[in-house]
Amino acid sequence: MADKPLAAVPAPPSAAPSAAGHAAPHSGPHGAPHAAPRLLRSDEEMQRLPASERIRYRLVTAERRHHANDNIAEFVRAGELAELKLEVAAKLQDVLKALVIDTDSDHNTQQTAERMAKMYIDEVFAGRYRPMPAVTEFPNAERLNELMIVGPINVRSACSHHMCPIFGKVWIGILPNEHSNLIGLSKYSRIADWVMSRPQIQEEAVTMLANELQARVRPDGLALVMEADHFCLHWRGVKDTDTAMVNSVMRGAFLKDANLRREFLSLLARKQER
Ligand SMILES: [Zn+2]
Repeated sequence: MADKPLAAVPAPPSAAPSAAGHAAPHSGPHGAPHAAPRLLRSDEEMQRLPASERIRYRLVTAERRHHANDNIAEFVRAGELAELKLEVAAKLQDVLKALVIDTDSDHNTQQTAERMAKMYIDEVFAGRYRPMPAVTEFPNAERLNELMIVGPINVRSACSHHMCPIFGKVWIGILPNEHSNLIGLSKYSRIADWVMSRPQIQEEAVTMLANELQARVRPDGLALVMEADHFCLHWRGVKDTDTAMVNSVMRGAFLKDANLRREFLSLLARKQER
């Protein structure tokens, strides 16, 4: 099954030809006013804003998408993650208050807001706020052109809909060519962890991971299978404990060559049995 590329970030409005050359009121392609603030803020004004507003301002002025599963590390300056954690903790404290939990006398929840803020920013959603781990690429000196399978890689994520945990496994199939770059085995896990450590939707997560690997390795074929347990199905909703979701991405040779696809899937099934 071929995957669809993620929706492209809309072209900056400045790229559109301006109407009749005079200063038209700012309006989007459908006549709606732009949400993006076009006025520039001074450094002084920026310093008065909470960290989240400063980061958002940079994203919006750069017209960069910042959905739950986008990495925004290049818009975060030194020291801002510490500020962001304090800001998130204060908001989570309000959530606990709205849930009518007496955090003043309940010793179990006194530090919960701080713990959650730290968990989100430093751990489970770290893949949003931190740059990609350094990955060294090696030229394919041995001219390897055989199917390589990496996995299962254990991955942890959270669904964007409920922020419930997702626990899963990823298998990667690579068919290199003589121009491909090879990366160390452990790096596949690191890149997978970086992509998954964001609120995700499984279908989009596998596509994002495929895009990262495609850009770095540039193989003739790339195959990815992810099987995961979604705790929003176990913990809430239907409380179904046996449902796992499987997604795959097949590119290049894996898309064209049914034999190669079969070889990958059969090796993967054998690996799973062990
Ligand atoms: Zn969910």
